[in-house]
Amino acid sequence: CLWLLAAAATEAEGYPKYKDPKQPLNVRIKDLMRRMSLEEKIGQMTQIERTLASPRIVKKYFVGSVISAGGSPPPPKASAEDWVNMVNDLQKGALSTRLGIPMIYGIDAIHGHSFVYKATVFPHNVGLGVTRDPVLVKRIGAATALEVRATGIPYTFAPSISVCRDPRWGRCYESFSEDHKIVRAMTDIIPGLQGDIPSHLQKGVPFVAGKKKVAACAKHFVGDGGTVNGIDENNTLIDFHGLLSIHMSPYFDSIIKGVSTVMIAYSSLNGKKMHANHELITSFLKNKLKFRGFVISDWKGIDRITDPPHANYSYSVQAGVLAGIDMVMLPENFTEFIEHLTSQVKKNIIPMSRIDDAVRRILRVKFVMGLFENPLADLSLANQLGSQEHRELAREAVRKSLVLLKNGKSANQPLLPFPKKVGKLLVAGTHADNLGYQCGGWTVEWQGVHGNDRIVGTTILEGIRKTVHPSTHVVHMENPDTNLLRLHKFSCAIVVVGEVPYAEMYGDSKNLRIIEPGPRTIKNVCGIVRCVVIVISGRPVVIEPHLAEIDALVAAWLPGTEGQGVADVLFGQQGFTGKLGRTWFRSVDQLPMNIGDPHYDPLFPFGFGLTTKPRQEN
Ligand code: BGC
Repeated sequence: CLWLLAAAATEAEGYPKYKDPKQPLNVRIKDLMRRMSLEEKIGQMTQIERTLASPRIVKKYFVGSVISAGGSPPPPKASAEDWVNMVNDLQKGALSTRLGIPMIYGIDAIHGHSFVYKATVFPHNVGLGVTRDPVLVKRIGAATALEVRATGIPYTFAPSISVCRDPRWGRCYESFSEDHKIVRAMTDIIPGLQGDIPSHLQKGVPFVAGKKKVAACAKHFVGDGGTVNGIDENNTLIDFHGLLSIHMSPYFDSIIKGVSTVMIAYSSLNGKKMHANHELITSFLKNKLKFRGFVISDWKGIDRITDPPHANYSYSVQAGVLAGIDMVMLPENFTEFIEHLTSQVKKNIIPMSRIDDAVRRILRVKFVMGLFENPLADLSLANQLGSQEHRELAREAVRKSLVLLKNGKSANQPLLPFPKKVGKLLVAGTHADNLGYQCGGWTVEWQGVHGNDRIVGTTILEGIRKTVHPSTHVVHMENPDTNLLRLHKFSCAIVVVGEVPYAEMYGDSKNLRIIEPGPRTIKNVCGIVRCVVIVISGRPVVIEPHLAEIDALVAAWLPGTEGQGVADVLFGQQGFTGKLGRTWFRSVDQLPMNIGDPHYDPLFPFGFGLTTKPRQEN
């Protein structure tokens, strides 16, 4: 009885139930929402860019989220401690508001925590699809979560679950495969990032298992991988059945696995911008699929509802929010967004119920992941960043992601695996000793970097040197001429060539060629020495014209920091096992080229991959 009296008294005093972790989730959300002003609610829907954020700004605008975006790289060589301090400072701004609602900091940890110095950089998704190994991918998710948390960050804008149908698309490497079944299986990266969803939870409820896990983001909803001619942000023309079975199906799995957030695609679907697509965002994703996490726009995504972008921002805000976007990723113009949204709610153009739906979803994620109880990060996970264990995992992933496309000029004369004693071995090509090229886009910077500075890892050349027998003489020449080659009398050669880093539209390509002097290096070296060519690229590239002169060919995709994994398989520590997750075309005239197409006549079909056995001497 006394207890009841006390409870009634605290209720009357406005006891903040939302602060009590013992209260049911819905009670907490409801209690907090009834206390919030319109300004505070709109603040929750606002995600601002790190370089614009300060504790004062976060406090003043009740900012719900801060982003380290691809376009604004983090401070160079910042340590885990620097990151934790920066994120905590901003968080203190949020905590000092009237209701003390924590903000959620997010970053693009696209292939590992790849913007951060010393992080383990895993193979890009295109390579992971080759492994056909969801358990491995889940472990990568878990390792990535630890590295992201090591820097005080609880949220990542990954994974991309795009089904890239055309390799000309500059984001092809962010896609696990052209085949939706592989992409669906690879959504196991989500429970890796967030933790396994407990069986009693309802379908669609977001889930993040505490301080060693991060909220994930399935992106880009939906059809981003199907744009005409693989042009980034273009239109996807597809009927509803095709949309469901190909591009939508990975979202079914992601939602069942408890994904916390979904990001909207820049692209259009049958002529309608996805950022304004009420039917798919609200009627389908939220109502039909019962997704209960929050929907986030892409960077300047609502601006691009109009063409040209930002032509009618008031309309963009209205169309985006009414379509069902809950949090808006905003670069420079966040106050403009806040002003427009506030005025539209006041004029009843946007109903309060829509704002409440958005805020409820954002708060649900924040409560579920324990941000109210543990808003500030500490340094207890700092040693996870680039840990030896994670590097071993990345190395394992590299080994399994390689696809052997050719092995010897005839089947009874295989070149691989090499023995460790090979006399004089040439390692050539633009990509043999270059961590930036190995990692590709979304590494250190949005467009990636060229060279070894600012990335900690092992190049393929270094991996080879560490692997061969001490009697093997490894000679590195980036682009040797034929006279020099004849002088040296090499027993065999490894030529590493490929694409240079790119991201998004900057990677759109009509010709899909390896960079110069790659073709010349292949010609020079393979004309004189028995050679294996390793292609470092985010997608299949034009290789048929060189195929006859090459003795062995390996697709290594964008393997990341652990080049040692490539050497492991070349020298037979482990066999080649990878199977193409993408069709390898003969010439770009054949594109787009998909299985089931009556004209399907690839150089190497989807699923192709030769195997080798480990070498006994190892
Ligand atoms: C990309 C997203 C990314 C966002 C934030 C956009 O340009 O499309 O995938 O998460 O930037 O960096």
